[in-house]
Amino acid sequence: MDVLQSLLPGEHIAAFPARYHALGPYKDLLESTRRLNLPTSTFRPQTFFHENYEYLCDLFFAKYNYSVRDEHSFGRLLRPFLPDEKTIYLKSASKKVKEVNFFGHFKLNQLYWKWCDICAIEDADNYGTPYFHLVHQIPAVFHCPTHGAGLSSKCVCNHYITELREEFLPPRNNTCINCQSTIPRFSAYFDEDMAKIERLMIKLTLKGTPAKASDFVGHIQRYAGVGKRQNKSVEQYRKKQAWYNYLMGYLDERAIAVYFRGQSVGDALRGARNLLTDNRLLFERNKVPSHPLIYVIALLAANYDFPRS
Ligand SMILES: [Zn+2]
Ligand SMILES: [Zn+2]
Repeated sequence: MDVLQSLLPGEHIAAFPARYHALGPYKDLLESTRRLNLPTSTFRPQTFFHENYEYLCDLFFAKYNYSVRDEHSFGRLLRPFLPDEKTIYLKSASKKVKEVNFFGHFKLNQLYWKWCDICAIEDADNYGTPYFHLVHQIPAVFHCPTHGAGLSSKCVCNHYITELREEFLPPRNNTCINCQSTIPRFSAYFDEDMAKIERLMIKLTLKGTPAKASDFVGHIQRYAGVGKRQNKSVEQYRKKQAWYNYLMGYLDERAIAVYFRGQSVGDALRGARNLLTDNRLLFERNKVPSHPLIYVIALLAANYDFPRS
């Protein structure tokens, strides 16, 4: 395999240009990205539908077909959570896609690159280089599905990688470029509910589900006991409030703090409350859909079983 021309198994597509640069002949990152015809040299792990992705999907489309979006990008994870008209974007290799924002995205804690130090060693043996895997970048995933080891990302000195502009690959020997200490594995609060969420996020990313956003909203409305056509009666109001209070208490506060940044529990899950009261959040063209993690938390709280693909 020519590692400069191909994506490596399970490699995150947004990490390819940085690896291409690290192994390639050009000294300047801008020169490497110019050679790949990329519009920008920003490579973030969880920026969905960034224009770079679209150029990269085109670049690899002939070789990998639609699997580029599903195996090297978050196609399978995102598809069920998008309003129907936006899912068409995922079916073509088109550069005309407008970036899709997800409500709650910027409240997530882990918007930086993560890696497994055991995978990094094995990848160096097998492919001559460590690289960033898609499966490690999934929101709310903190452990390597292959090795079970906690993922590394943030050093004790608070150094982490957001854009792959200065660091292009998972660091050698897990050594921090800022302070030279060994970067620790994830070891923050992690409970049974978080493990359930982690398994589900991995499954949705790797296998997908045929369920759609409208199914999710319907399920939550039934679970909460409010009808599709909602009125302003006191009874409806009480049911909505009861669901909301239940949802707020569903996860341990320490779990919420691991997932979401400096926000109160209620603020972080506001999107989930809206799943019940505001269908327009999903279906109106200029409204943003909620982040998949917010859906997953709300749906698990409502005992939803995701159908298998
Ligand atoms: Zn691993
Ligand atoms: Zn450090």
